[in-house]
Amino acid sequence: MKYSCLVLILILTASALPADPVAQPRIIVAISVDQFSADLFAEYRALFTGGLKRLQSGVVFANGYQSHAATETCPGHSTILTGSRPARTGVIANDWIDQSIDRADKKVYCAEDPTVPGSSSTNYTVSAKFLKVPTLGDRLKTMSPQSRVISVAGKDRAAVMLGGHSIDQVWYWSGASFVTLSGARGPTPSIVDGTNAAVSKLIATPAAAPLPAPCQTRSMSVSVADHEVGVIHAAKGGDVGAFKVSLAFDRAVTDIAIGLLRDLKLGVGPAPDVLAIGLSATDYVGHTFGTEGAEMCAQLLGVDDNVARILKALDETRMPYVVVLTADHGGTDLPERNQARGTVDAARIDPALTPGKLGQQLAGEFGLNSPVLLAAQPFGDIYLARDVPDSMRARVLDAARKKYDSHPQVAAVFTADELRRMAAPAGPPDEWTLAERFRASFDPERSGDLLVALKPHITPIADARYSVATHGSPWNYDRRVPILFYRPGAVGFEHPLPIETADILPTLAALIGLSIPAGEIDGHCVDLDPGPGNTCPR
Ligand SMILES: [Zn+2]
Repeated sequence: MKYSCLVLILILTASALPADPVAQPRIIVAISVDQFSADLFAEYRALFTGGLKRLQSGVVFANGYQSHAATETCPGHSTILTGSRPARTGVIANDWIDQSIDRADKKVYCAEDPTVPGSSSTNYTVSAKFLKVPTLGDRLKTMSPQSRVISVAGKDRAAVMLGGHSIDQVWYWSGASFVTLSGARGPTPSIVDGTNAAVSKLIATPAAAPLPAPCQTRSMSVSVADHEVGVIHAAKGGDVGAFKVSLAFDRAVTDIAIGLLRDLKLGVGPAPDVLAIGLSATDYVGHTFGTEGAEMCAQLLGVDDNVARILKALDETRMPYVVVLTADHGGTDLPERNQARGTVDAARIDPALTPGKLGQQLAGEFGLNSPVLLAAQPFGDIYLARDVPDSMRARVLDAARKKYDSHPQVAAVFTADELRRMAAPAGPPDEWTLAERFRASFDPERSGDLLVALKPHITPIADARYSVATHGSPWNYDRRVPILFYRPGAVGFEHPLPIETADILPTLAALIGLSIPAGEIDGHCVDLDPGPGNTCPR
């Protein structure tokens, strides 16, 4: 064939092809739906008609894992964009004990800056100081300083753990309005001012949200403590707490995220940009009402709608993008409804298991001044008080371990020494031992002297007046989360075998040519190509 003819054919062929569906993304969007367990995803996925339906046409890992034992918000968010488990990120829990800290409150909050004079674990200055590793945004900015990193979330800890140490714009709910880090420069974006004004109005006069039709069959009242859950109640005007469990909370976060995406023209700069979005309301709904009632149904259909709005706004940029959606941890329902539905071992924690009470017994037995045990909660990291004399520490710790071990609600107790000697876990996270799960969120500098696992289905909330259900256990209902990758135009697939949330960072990094030195992270790149192609570096 004549050369000119061949060129013509090639040009015609090329112009007939669609635009490259898997071009290098210019916007990387990470959405974390707080407490969106793999179980909730499985239960509701057929009901989604919006964004969560569309994401299911991408690459679906329905059995993702927050692989570690401390399945809480802060550790979970610290894994999503760092490629690392909490043992490496240093974010071992939402709160832990630091007896060396020079203040009366020895509890530290994972997203506080403890160097700010006068701060405490409850009255704190928000910071990513405790996060020991770089995020995707941090790494991207080192590679291409013009990249922008935006993080918007309901919770401050979600916003900073997803964003990292050099966020350009970070916004989260303070309890009264959406705010940014103290010391942040620049004017407040108009979308934030506008959203704050709209939210104050909404809190004063909440809009009644009718129960969506698919949720009607889930509306069934359950008695717990002094109240009932399972059916939708109208919010009263002026109730700021009710805002956090209303559909308006995630909607406001979504409004700000979309507003910043548009106003900052993400994706059109010289380098890829990162937009992290933390939808926190699902967690508040889970804690306040449990996971299996009408409230959660309405909430998840709301998430479906917000994700649809985010995707639409991304489509409108006309830039190639990638979205990953996952959760910081899973969760389970309140024990009362679990009981009623056949989980006969579901129960609330025995109030005798609090570190204060066990510590008191130990103090009596050893002739010590209490407190002997310190902890942020009645399970997980338990610390031996510093004033227990060196000569007695081993014996007191051993006695404490025996007390926990002999309690019928305790599944296992590990010592810091045992975990320190273990290698970081490897292999499929669904097959890890309990000790390996604890090892994955163990930091020798920060973790407790004892690590306590309650038995499955034991809810560590004795008094259920305010919060009825929770998470934080090493059991799979708290560890399993969906991990969905979506690139418009790319062929998707579903893979039932597990991956870890720590795999998200290297997977995204590979799409934009960001190299991560071997040994710096725990995760592995996941191939998003369904066939012989490979999106990971070889
Ligand atoms: Zn929670």
